[in-house]
Amino acid sequence: MRLSRYFLPLMRENPSEAQIASHRLMLRAGMIRQSSAGIYSWLPLGQRVLKKVERIVREEQDKAGAQEILMPTIQPAELWRESGRWEDYGKEMLRLRDRHEREMVYGPTNEEQVTEIVRASIKSYRDLPKNLYHIQWKFRDELRPRFGVMRGREFLMKDAYSFDLDQKGAKHSYNKMFFAYLRTFARMGLKAIPMRADTGPIGGDLSHEFIVLSETGESQVYCDRAWLEADILSAEVDYESDLEPLFARWTRRYAATEEKHDPALCPLPPEKLVAARGIEVGQTFYFGTKYSAPMGAFAARADGESVPLEMGSYGIGVSRLVGALIEANHDEEGIIWPQSVAPFAVGLIDLRPGEERCRALAEDLYQKLLAAGAEVLYDDREESPGAKFATMDLIGLPFQLIVGPRGAAQGRVELKERRTGARSEISPQNAIERFS
Ligand code: ATP
Ligand code: MG
Repeated sequence: MRLSRYFLPLMRENPSEAQIASHRLMLRAGMIRQSSAGIYSWLPLGQRVLKKVERIVREEQDKAGAQEILMPTIQPAELWRESGRWEDYGKEMLRLRDRHEREMVYGPTNEEQVTEIVRASIKSYRDLPKNLYHIQWKFRDELRPRFGVMRGREFLMKDAYSFDLDQKGAKHSYNKMFFAYLRTFARMGLKAIPMRADTGPIGGDLSHEFIVLSETGESQVYCDRAWLEADILSAEVDYESDLEPLFARWTRRYAATEEKHDPALCPLPPEKLVAARGIEVGQTFYFGTKYSAPMGAFAARADGESVPLEMGSYGIGVSRLVGALIEANHDEEGIIWPQSVAPFAVGLIDLRPGEERCRALAEDLYQKLLAAGAEVLYDDREESPGAKFATMDLIGLPFQLIVGPRGAAQGRVELKERRTGARSEISPQNAIERFS
């Protein structure tokens, strides 16, 4: 992509409404624009990151055996009356009426909707287990929308729903999602710590929140559970055969701390304990028959007896993750994207587009990078070198390839790593190999 043609409306000044780094940087880097309180448009750069995050979430859900569907944003009120949440959910739920005065809901979550789909078609143990997920916009009329996309009113969520015949199966489904979550966040370079949690309006009695450590977060974390990660991430795990032995090993240590949130029981040495703030990027719930029983989602067991389905639900804040990633990855100059979610893998800067030798080298490199399949953003604008460096540092692409007059004379380009600032001179051919 040529920057001269790209829609990248940058802001020079810090926007006064933004209190935290991610909100400030998303506005300054032209990723989002506010429509009304807690409701945003995603501009090209922001949309690319959102799609990358979404893709990682999707791949890990698919690997764990969940199947993607797409449910509507608008749901009929009757479904929520059936579950009892029409009364219980409160003012966060946006209620609407259509032209026939029928009451509707802009979905804050989809337990009712998915239960309706499943109850109509799953009748027997032979159809189970199932896990259905979608990645869809939600609306919650938050009392205080703030921090940009971190606490929006309209936000993108991945929500999965598992259906099993009995509690043992449901717990296995829960464990699969638990595991998939740790892998999902790790692929984004985030350390997300699972914490035993309250279930809130979703209901049930087993739940974990996944918290990314950050000063600006709204959640409290007490014990660094980094020791979980090594096991989880090292293996290519077969979800059916390897998972339960791994879980048995973790939970012996894990249960000791989480059943009590008592830091003294943490298996880590005291110097590794943290009392920190964090951002909730996901939450998992096991709530058994809370929706299936009142809504009549039953299946026949092998012995013929009809039982309500055992359910769980599993949310990830896809749009919130974009903010959380920036909170975890930025400096004074701007954003520093981890490679897996970067909007482009590399920025190509022509410092002197007016000089023939620079222009020719940069154009040639750009065409070859494109041909090699690299995701490259090419700053071909007539701007000062200072402005170009500031732009690239602000939008945070992991690497910059810099074409200047001195290097161009020798057929060399400079490679700068955004995170460390480390610079080295390489040949254009090396650059192409590096990013193809
Ligand atoms: P919170 O406690 O932050 O209000 P929640 O517990 O109400 O969130 P869940 O029902 O667990 O939210 O939703 C699943 C995920 O969706 C959350 O873990 C979070 O990452 C994301 N999420 C929830 N509310 C918002 C919001 N207002 N804006 C952006 N993301 C949100
Ligand atoms: Mg939650």
